[in-house]
Amino acid sequence: SADQPTTPSSTTTPASPAKEQATVLAEASRRRSFAVISHPDAGKSTLTEALALHANAIREAGRADGKAGRRTVSDWMDMEQDRGISITSAALQFTYRDAMINLVDTPGHADFSEDTYRVLSAVDAAVMLVDAAKGLEVQTMKLFAVCKHRGIPLITVINKWDRPGKDALELMDEIQERTGLVPTPLTWPVGVGGDFRGVLDRRTGQYVHYTRTAGGTTIAPEEVMDPDAAVAREGDAWTTAVEEAELLADSNGDHDQETFLAGQTTPVLFGSAVQNFGVHALLDVLVDVAPSPSPRVTVTEDTRPVEAPFSAFVFKMQAGMDTAHRDRLAFARICSGVFERGMVVSSARTGKPFATKYAQQVFGRERTIVDTAYPGDVVGLVNAAGLRVGDTLYLDKKVEFPPLPTFAPEHFAVMRAKDVSRYKQFQRGVMQLGAEGVVQVLRSDLRGDQAPVLAVVGPMQFEVAEHRMATEFNAPVSLDRLGYSMALRTTKDWVAQLNEQPGVEVLQREDGEYLALFPDRWRVTSVRNRLEGVVLLEDEIFG
Ligand code: GDP
Repeated sequence: SADQPTTPSSTTTPASPAKEQATVLAEASRRRSFAVISHPDAGKSTLTEALALHANAIREAGRADGKAGRRTVSDWMDMEQDRGISITSAALQFTYRDAMINLVDTPGHADFSEDTYRVLSAVDAAVMLVDAAKGLEVQTMKLFAVCKHRGIPLITVINKWDRPGKDALELMDEIQERTGLVPTPLTWPVGVGGDFRGVLDRRTGQYVHYTRTAGGTTIAPEEVMDPDAAVAREGDAWTTAVEEAELLADSNGDHDQETFLAGQTTPVLFGSAVQNFGVHALLDVLVDVAPSPSPRVTVTEDTRPVEAPFSAFVFKMQAGMDTAHRDRLAFARICSGVFERGMVVSSARTGKPFATKYAQQVFGRERTIVDTAYPGDVVGLVNAAGLRVGDTLYLDKKVEFPPLPTFAPEHFAVMRAKDVSRYKQFQRGVMQLGAEGVVQVLRSDLRGDQAPVLAVVGPMQFEVAEHRMATEFNAPVSLDRLGYSMALRTTKDWVAQLNEQPGVEVLQREDGEYLALFPDRWRVTSVRNRLEGVVLLEDEIFG
């Protein structure tokens, strides 16, 4: 138990490798790790709460709209609360049926999409949440592109069916046309948007009738009926649903596990997160069709089996989340083996040992001590000041996973300490923000250490940096925006010549890459013409 003194792992009796491997395989195969991707306001926070409610993790679903007076537990940082947006990510773990579900939360605002991209490298599946009235929105499409690129299978949930919206068949066409995925609805709505009575379960042909509960804060009762009872009760609404479901069957709209895992089809569910309708069905689908953790590719291009010794990678860093816990947390996704608290692991980047004496699960404000965790799980490692986003952690023989994708920044600003006597605090803050991936930090001899350039994908990242420098590192800063809009990677050999080009500047990022900053695409073209053979590489950009 947690009260007993922790024993260093080296002195515990190791389980026989075969037995431990069998345990790891069994635990991994019951894991379902996923994230929800959606455009802001589609209902992600509400769905998260509803899932937790169904899993009995939280007794009453908090309401995402501040009006209800309560905050959902996944929304907590100062700025988040002020603005009502999710900036930081947390993970929620709960059991459902025999499965262990890990829901990794993603920030909703487009300015923090770099964070979301990193979260998507830590999950095995994603739920694409679509507002029935709006269809596929800008941010949904961007995140969809990332999932497609990474080969992450997608389950689609059409949300807010309790409100008037688009026609269900029209939404299926939209999905197919805009994502190329063939939608394979598992449920089909009975009643048009705004008149949500229940769903036809296309696998059984039965009717699942939903009953509203007060404010959707408790689990909505579901009643399963045969088609005869359904037609007697719902009349035309049922007959229409049956007819439409038959149309789908004619157009290859039935779920197929192989094409789903290959990213060619997407199972679709209809629901209303705010009323807790369809949430149960989503949990069942996650358990029944979503993949469990699989072997992960390493930098040497081979794969690390899930039953191999412990390995994980850091996909998210967080600091100063809560004034009561002023610490650094590194969120790591476990890829193989068993994690035991107290274990001393190594960091592939530095080769240094890292003691996991304190490991936690964090969801919103709540923290739970983790003693054991398995592939697919996310653990928050405390006192992680020496770690960076993207670091691989391992036990035994060295293993390293490929670096997380970096995204071409589009906004740049010089940061300076307002009070020069706070130089130390300033430097500590800059280093930490870089390590966490809050901003990319660029430097050059010309600009010097006192005036690093911050590079971001979304301008709100600047605000987070400015806010944290003042409140957390006690080093208020000023930011001056620079007129660049593009950054291309180059090599050391080209630095001097590029710096001579008007309007162009080369800086070095913390990962060692040289980035050439340009005001616009025209300048890139003219420099390419002028400097024959110049190395200018574009970073991975999606959407
Ligand atoms: P997020 O930005 O994606 O996290 O969205 P929220 O969960 O904060 O929801 C945005 C707004 O939509 C809130 O006012 C919710 O109450 C509302 N909402 C969420 N789900 C539903 C739903 O199923 N039906 C209706 N009518 N409103 C919903």
